[in-house]
Amino acid sequence: MTIGILGGGQLGYMLALAGYPLDFHFRFLDPSPQAPVGRIASRVTAEYTDFEALEKFAHGLALVTYEFENVPVEAARFLQKLVPVYPSTQALETAQDRRSEKLLFQKLGIPTTKFAVIHSADELHQAVQKIGLPAVLKTCRLGYDGKGQWVLRSNQDVGRIKNEIPSAPLILEKFVKFSRELSILAVRARDGATSFYPLVENHHRGGILRLSLAPAPRLAEILQREAQDAARRVLESLDYVGVLAIELFECDGHLLANEMAPRVHNSGHWTIEGAITSQFENHLRAVSGLPLGVTRTLGFSAMLNLIGELPDANELLALPDAHLHLYGKSPRPGRKVGHVTLRADSIEQLEQRLRQLPTFFHREEFCLSERFAKSAK
Ligand code: AMP
Repeated sequence: MTIGILGGGQLGYMLALAGYPLDFHFRFLDPSPQAPVGRIASRVTAEYTDFEALEKFAHGLALVTYEFENVPVEAARFLQKLVPVYPSTQALETAQDRRSEKLLFQKLGIPTTKFAVIHSADELHQAVQKIGLPAVLKTCRLGYDGKGQWVLRSNQDVGRIKNEIPSAPLILEKFVKFSRELSILAVRARDGATSFYPLVENHHRGGILRLSLAPAPRLAEILQREAQDAARRVLESLDYVGVLAIELFECDGHLLANEMAPRVHNSGHWTIEGAITSQFENHLRAVSGLPLGVTRTLGFSAMLNLIGELPDANELLALPDAHLHLYGKSPRPGRKVGHVTLRADSIEQLEQRLRQLPTFFHREEFCLSERFAKSAK
């Protein structure tokens, strides 16, 4: 069976690696001739809106999925006429726009922070009056890794930002004083069966994910239940097939949904070594109609992104149960070039292994002692 994947970055790369043992073949489409999957799979270099190329790409494929959520919806719609596309174009469309995402959460009774949608800088004052300060202004579309976002703390910020913001739909959100950021990964099969991974605790810097701890330390059972209920409602309402990630804020002992991604997710990379079935394998099982794999964890994991530079592999891999994943991308500031997963049998052992990481990682200042001192209680 050949599976077509839109987008040829590291998520696609790891999907292919997970699919080869199941005898899946892959064909990728990506506008960049440097897309990392070129090393391991057949790749078509074309724009997503090149319909002639899409038609050729689809020839002989069993199905199409994506690893990049900003694929133009027209491309998915066009392909859908030729071959099954999972997750649905409706899911893709919803997740591409923060407004439709938040409205879906609202419709399904999933709590979010207070928000208002604005269409021009002139509407900003009114929205600020409704939402209050501090607030976060975000472009509804095409924002990722903290891009297209402005934190507004004072009326001066509001006045200043009015001249800077693009003329595109924007969403103003009340600033959430969260105690931590979490995410849940859920997977739904073609027959409607669903499975969930445990909530993961995520640490960002400069808008980019740096560290995920799985399962999230000090996790109250009720939070896992809340997250699963929310994810189940989203999956069912979109008749979703594949892996879905929802990013959440923990605030006063409850969850607020921030956004979702209709694909495998960076905060799920730990599942390669830290769960019985990885998110990548489960996504492929779901879209190809196979039964889902067990999502249970294998101990405790920490996933650290490698951003802009690479550590010394010799030094890192001398640490027990350390796993290095390199994406074949040339290092450049702010670019995710790989990740490391540390696995351990207990949270204490994980903490110890994090401390033993080469000095390369110490710059990240993850405040680990504080995190683990709390988690040990
Ligand atoms: P997003 O692109 O929505 O995932 O936002 C990127 C990061 O900005 C999040 O991971 C949070 O750390 C922060 N952030 C986003 N929205 C809010 C909010 N409403 N209140 C506080 N922090 C936020």
